[in-house]
Amino acid sequence: MKKNIKTAILLCAAFLIISSGCTPFVVRNTPDEPVETSDDPRFSFEIDDKSSDSDETGKSSENSASQSNSDSLSDNDKSSSKAKENSDSLVSEAPPENEEITAISLDVEKSDPQIGQTIKVIVTVTPDQDAEYILRSDDENVVTANEDGTLTAVGEGTCTVTAALKDNASVSDAVQITVSAPKNTDQEQNQDFYVDGILIVNKKYFITADYNPGGLTLECYSAFERLTNAAAEEGISIYALSDFRSYEEQVAIYNDYVMQYGEDGANSLCALPGHSEHQTGLAIDCASYDSGYFPGSPAAAWLDEHCAEYGFIIRYPAGHEAATGYSYEPWHIRYIGAKAKQITDSGLSLEEYYDLND
Ligand SMILES: [Zn+2]
Repeated sequence: MKKNIKTAILLCAAFLIISSGCTPFVVRNTPDEPVETSDDPRFSFEIDDKSSDSDETGKSSENSASQSNSDSLSDNDKSSSKAKENSDSLVSEAPPENEEITAISLDVEKSDPQIGQTIKVIVTVTPDQDAEYILRSDDENVVTANEDGTLTAVGEGTCTVTAALKDNASVSDAVQITVSAPKNTDQEQNQDFYVDGILIVNKKYFITADYNPGGLTLECYSAFERLTNAAAEEGISIYALSDFRSYEEQVAIYNDYVMQYGEDGANSLCALPGHSEHQTGLAIDCASYDSGYFPGSPAAAWLDEHCAEYGFIIRYPAGHEAATGYSYEPWHIRYIGAKAKQITDSGLSLEEYYDLND
């Protein structure tokens, strides 16, 4: 592939330059206008711009090698106004490589990605040459266009991605992309999975987008109320900083992480939608008015010692990161019910207690 990218400046998140020689694609755009003939005035204008650019810093060797007529063109016409006046004569000298672009073609590696996936894009123009184009998504809640010319699937839904010539937006091509929730290869057996009457949600097991209790379950809510009252009686403040999160909220959080840290970074810091315990209405992130930083606080120690009495477990205990897939989170408690005490006393994580990682 030719790497002759003369003005490789990314003007915005998705303003890109393609070089000639790309693979042709499947999706092809029909030009909006009839094919331009070589005496179109716009043609000479464009040629002149390019020639002037290369002349500013001396002749580009690549240019003179590949464009046999560019020297005479630029030498004769240093100023763009002069170029316009002389457009007819310039046209006759224009090399084939700089013919007016009549069509742009956009193809994507995958038109039905899952959330979190990055999609490669192939854009070519007719006639084949270097060109600058802008890549846009009409719904950035579904797909975002990245600076490197790729796309990221960020939310469920369908959207249209368009590649348009930077200098002539009427020359464009579009593809539709439908993004679905992340699927597991063992999807059927890994969704809405219960062990011992306990709903399991972790990196492997998930709940579907429509699983929505609308808030903490009544059982969990009242158990937490008893817990906070008991703590308060001992002078410990504990409150819920974050509890129920819908699938849609988790999508938004996950997308923020993807934007900030990339897909891998997001996956290590944030549960994929459907894989967050907060969607169950059975998980609470605790905080305390007594101390700004929860880990190591009296409230954290109290929670660790007493939460099982109220049906909760510290869901991601220290030293069990490999089993849970999460760093130690002394603030995240999960309502289990009657089994909480046994699980806590075992010193195991939920994954180890029920052997969930096989
Ligand atoms: Zn949490």
